[in-house]
Amino acid sequence: MQDCIFCKIINREIPADIVYEDDQVLAFKDIQPIAPTHLLFIPKKHIPTFFDLQPEDSHILGDLQLAVVNVAKDMGLTERGFRLVANCKKDAGQVVWHLHYHFLAGRPFQWPPG
Ligand code: C5P
Repeated sequence: MQDCIFCKIINREIPADIVYEDDQVLAFKDIQPIAPTHLLFIPKKHIPTFFDLQPEDSHILGDLQLAVVNVAKDMGLTERGFRLVANCKKDAGQVVWHLHYHFLAGRPFQWPPG
């Protein structure tokens, strides 16, 4: 999608520190990290929010989460783990309208979140 900043990252129109890519998924470092490791996992297909998912997109969620697990394994996080967060619309604080998971690791996290 033309005005989507994450689509521009996918298309290499703006820079990002990309750490993982496959046919369906891209992952890159968040430019305003809130943890020692803060990555964003996005589908290459432009989907604004979870509410825009169509039945034919069901594989995308699996693709995203498998990519997360593969990256987490490569980073040696199988013991300490990670947090996976998705902000959906205004009450959750979504500011980029391209579905994404925040991948957070490298420190303990509080529960419940604020
Ligand atoms: O979930 P939410 O939409 O609030 O988060 C969007 C995230 O995208 C922010 O953490 C922001 O730092 C990140 N971002 C980025 N690179 C950009 C634009 C936004 O990492 N070029």
